Amino acid sequence: MNESAEYVLSACREHDVKFIRLWFTDIVGTLKSFAITVEELEKALEEGMGFDGSSIEGFARIDESDMVARPDPSTFQLVPWRPKEASVARMFCDITYPGGEPFEGDPRYVLKRQLKRAADLGYTFYVSPEMEYFYFKSETEPVPLDRGGYFDQMSDAGSDLRRETVLTLEAMGIEVEYSHHEVAPSQHEITLRYTDALTMADAAMTYRLVVKEIAAANGVYATFMPKPIEGVNGSGMHVHQSLFKGERNAFFDENDPYHLSAVAKGYIAGLLYHARAITLVTNQWVNSYKRLLPGFEAPVYLSWARRNRSDLIRIPEYKPGKEIHTRIEYRSPDAACNPYLAFAVMLAAGLDGIENERPLPPPVEENVFEMTPAERAARGIEMLPGSLIEAIEVAEKSSFLREALGDHVFESLIANKRIEWERYRRHVTDFELREYLPIL
Ligand code: GLN
Ligand code: MG
Ligand code: MG
Ligand code: MG
Repeated sequence: MNESAEYVLSACREHDVKFIRLWFTDIVGTLKSFAITVEELEKALEEGMGFDGSSIEGFARIDESDMVARPDPSTFQLVPWRPKEASVARMFCDITYPGGEPFEGDPRYVLKRQLKRAADLGYTFYVSPEMEYFYFKSETEPVPLDRGGYFDQMSDAGSDLRRETVLTLEAMGIEVEYSHHEVAPSQHEITLRYTDALTMADAAMTYRLVVKEIAAANGVYATFMPKPIEGVNGSGMHVHQSLFKGERNAFFDENDPYHLSAVAKGYIAGLLYHARAITLVTNQWVNSYKRLLPGFEAPVYLSWARRNRSDLIRIPEYKPGKEIHTRIEYRSPDAACNPYLAFAVMLAAGLDGIENERPLPPPVEENVFEMTPAERAARGIEMLPGSLIEAIEVAEKSSFLREALGDHVFESLIANKRIEWERYRRHVTDFELREYLPIL
């Protein structure tokens, strides 16, 4: 048995662990879990645990539903909100076929494939997501707990919930950079300190669960729904990204006016080039497209800039010219995405831009929303898809996206999203009744 497996077994003895939750993720980013008792642990670490994957979204294939979950010992953590006696721990798993080959439908594997591509070029991919969410009184209606706004210092239920959430995340080995009230009433953000993308995708899954668990334990409901309330900001997941070669930040160039290297510029160009195709992954729900509207600090147009917050890609310069801080911020994803797939497709797009030396269009420092359509057209500024169906149709035609996700995830995701769109299309909304019934 290797060292990390030994560590897991001794940690279980030390903390009186009775149950180990094996965690993995379906294609739309739902956390899946089954528990084993500590008596099964040694076997699970050696051989993995078999399970029937036929009812997991995006896993199903009638003829091959037997799967194996192989816990990754480096992800071992106690689950702090469970009892201290006969306590509970968790590990993220890689999913394989019974023979041991990786299962192509496992989002963690999709991310690992892209990370391997980056590693072969000498790069480590670092990310830091800003995940926003709302607290509501219950899950049936979006009733806010407070009337606060951006960075408001308040003594309210939200601050106490956030405090408990940050402490719990830290107890699980997840470092928090800062947390604050967001723009909309009852909207909050906790920013995680950057790590490599695989660690962060696991952390993002944990984050969503912890936010919800702490809310529930305090009798309220937390949601990452992209746009729960019409007329105020939705919840995004801006993702700060950089590529490092060893200790050196490959995005940094001291002599460039933006302090961006050719690698960074290629990366941005690739993201812009494939932005429309990857939107199905970064914004995967019907509701995601209600966030991507002008006027709510969410991007609509495909542009990049340093100072401008209406752009899709921003170059944060809190500490201008500091190598370690040089990064790009991609602002379209929402916090209800599958973080493994989102990180994978953003990295794939960036690498594609670097490898193909895609040209970077000039930055747009003025407000894109204030330009006329003709001005935008003259400057070649395109738009993100405006609806789930548009995103599906763009994605479907992208051989780049098929390659980045692999055939299995690509096809399952498109099939899944077509069903969602059809269900939505059938639904007669309040809007239609209010607008049409009195006049038609
Ligand atoms: N909530 C905004 C969004 O949807 C972001 C607001 C902010 O972080 N300044 O992306
Ligand atoms: Mg922020
Ligand atoms: Mg924010
Ligand atoms: Mg931001």
